[in-house]
Amino acid sequence: MTPGLKRLSLCVPFIWLLALMVAGSPARADEETRGAVMIEKVLKTDEEWRKLLTPEQYRITRKKGTELAFTGEYHDLKEEGTYQCVACGLELFSSRTRYDSGAGWPSFLAPVSKHHIEEREDRSLFTKRTEVVCARCDAHLGHVFNDGPKPTGLRYCINSLVLKFVPKR
Ligand SMILES: [Zn+2]
Repeated sequence: MTPGLKRLSLCVPFIWLLALMVAGSPARADEETRGAVMIEKVLKTDEEWRKLLTPEQYRITRKKGTELAFTGEYHDLKEEGTYQCVACGLELFSSRTRYDSGAGWPSFLAPVSKHHIEEREDRSLFTKRTEVVCARCDAHLGHVFNDGPKPTGLRYCINSLVLKFVPKR
């Protein structure tokens, strides 16, 4: 092998590594964009939602209701699994980010993906809060507060009735 060729063959792994590093970030960005695009809205009439949901689920998801603290089916659930939107099935939260806030509703540090929820300003009840809704079907889920523990410092305070728990297999 000539010295020139030898140098070139030594360089190949470095070039390959460089190419991987350069290609890495745009690929991740594409994935994020694809994730956002994949959430297609589920649109139904008020009547259709009424038929699909129980009266309590309808009151909370479509009329921004709140279940009584410590009464929800999942308020104290410690099992591993994921929590889906009860209205459209979109995966919203995971037991991995769940913690006990003592508030009486399921509390999470973060959603499974920021693309799966939408946050809106809520000025009802004479205060300013941030409402959390399902990104696919606009179901009201609860609120997010800034008094959560580390690492996010957030508390997603979610009604049990808007969630469907799927245990980890
Ligand atoms: Zn939904």
